[in-house]
Amino acid sequence: MNIFYGTPISPGFAEAPPLLVQGMKLKSEERAISSNEVEKEFKRFTDAIEATKNELLAIRDKTAEEIGEDEAEIFDAHILVLEDPLLHVEVSRKLESEQKNVEIVLQMVIDDLAERFSKIEDEMMRERATDIADVGQILIRNLMGRPSAAIRIDEPCILVATEISPSTAAKLDSELVLGCVTEIGSVTSHTAIIARALGIPAVVVPPGTITELQNANTIIVDGMDGAVVADPDEKTIEEYEEKEQKRLEREIMLRRKIGLDAVTTDGVKIDISANIEMPIEIKIAKENGAEGVGLYRTEFLFLNRKVLPSEEEQYQHYRLAAEAFPQNDVIIRTIDVGGDKFLSGSGMPEDVNPYLGVRAIRFSLVKPDIFNSQIRAIIRASRHGKVKLLLPMISCIEEISSAMGYIDECCKKFDLDSDCIEVGIMIETPAAALNTKIFSNYMDFFSIGTNDLIQYTMAAERGNKQLDYLHRPMQPTIIRLIKEVTDNAKATGIELSVCGEMAGDLRMIPILVGLGITKLSMNPRSIPVAKEMIRRISFEESSSVAKEIAQLLFTKDAVDKVEKTFGERVKSLEINGARFQD
Ligand code: PEP
Ligand code: MG
Repeated sequence: MNIFYGTPISPGFAEAPPLLVQGMKLKSEERAISSNEVEKEFKRFTDAIEATKNELLAIRDKTAEEIGEDEAEIFDAHILVLEDPLLHVEVSRKLESEQKNVEIVLQMVIDDLAERFSKIEDEMMRERATDIADVGQILIRNLMGRPSAAIRIDEPCILVATEISPSTAAKLDSELVLGCVTEIGSVTSHTAIIARALGIPAVVVPPGTITELQNANTIIVDGMDGAVVADPDEKTIEEYEEKEQKRLEREIMLRRKIGLDAVTTDGVKIDISANIEMPIEIKIAKENGAEGVGLYRTEFLFLNRKVLPSEEEQYQHYRLAAEAFPQNDVIIRTIDVGGDKFLSGSGMPEDVNPYLGVRAIRFSLVKPDIFNSQIRAIIRASRHGKVKLLLPMISCIEEISSAMGYIDECCKKFDLDSDCIEVGIMIETPAAALNTKIFSNYMDFFSIGTNDLIQYTMAAERGNKQLDYLHRPMQPTIIRLIKEVTDNAKATGIELSVCGEMAGDLRMIPILVGLGITKLSMNPRSIPVAKEMIRRISFEESSSVAKEIAQLLFTKDAVDKVEKTFGERVKSLEINGARFQD
């Protein structure tokens, strides 16, 4: 038995034999052509474009019907690749210069374009390389007159491949493909979106892992913890089956309670809302019982594209969220690019240290056109519900004052008062946390972004695994800081919520509730279990534990205290806490 750890990109567990999908690159014969044949070869190319477009339109329609319109839009991006003038110009140019048959020339052009995209910093732009390679293979197959290379699957399996293209993912039968393991992909990749929509657990493993999986008879995919177990022994299979059983029981139990509020045993109601990145998650948030959107990370609307979204396009997106939750807050955060989310085409130089550079509000303030169009779109969307505007990564009063200047101007343009929309700031720098008393005079609400608050307080880059000991949410330093923010918010009467990952962490929930936080926003899929956890704790006991932790020195003592008080309740609810090898 071998266990590999990777990144979970679609939740759930699955166990089945692996089906290894080899690289799908078709090998075409190379043939020299004369100058007279260039035109004929180019015509073959444009015919193949038409055939491919029809094929993609058919997949698009099937996806819209069977999965949803949002997922179907992925194929619009593929069709755009086919229509890209650059592709046509490059093929024509290379036919002239290389004088080879169009299959060979096209492969060169596709490889070149895919390579250029794969080098772009921005992760979502890099994933365009997959789209280009995917579309290129369909084009070449059509040029070669080969039928659709659908993967034949007759038995339940775990699909194992270096990469699964979105068009392949959309064709998967979730009755037979029980899980996916790839070496390329991320939570935001198109393939992950489709896997989640189809309910197929998936994990991205480090390069080289799939070679190790190819001879396994059975594989377990743990889309909760990101584990992949090759040839599990009896004990592990039993543990896994038990985990799966527990997961199903938990799902059934929680589904029955989806309409119940999160109220502690001594009557404190906690509002639970969803963090979303893309419109597709609005539906998931509603299905999981979210009471509004506590954080809309709008930068994801900006990342995977050549042209930035217009005010109108943004308005339509934000409006969807507002209309989905007419009675609840929908908190729309202005773009937080920079850090690990680089916006290509913005004309901004790359920072040497991106997390400390022109990120979030700093970016918006040097790009007023982008900022203004986003503010206008958010104000327009606010007419359709209870929309609020949230400013990310604020560090000083000057940033607040400049941002409010832009917001006031936009309100004036719409003939509205400057208080036409509630405006809040993220508390995610120590500077903001230290200034909460003063900043409360200027803002309508605060939202603590614990992911960055930990990163900036501990001076420990978020994604750096070696610094995990500094990222621990339960460290008393962080608890003291959150306590200070919470006490200041209470003293000044400003509304406060927490929207970092901590908010959905079952062990952290009692501490946050105990500190007096009554609004939590989290990944939509964590909502049902978080609500249940709250229903099993009392404010009184949480408050005494939180106070005690705020006095401690060592993280370990904090962990022990929580474990002793709430451990049993957490364990009865969690399904992904213990890894097989732990
Ligand atoms: C945070 O920093 O906690 C937060 C919610 O913002 P993001 O994760 O988008 O940086
Ligand atoms: Mg943040």
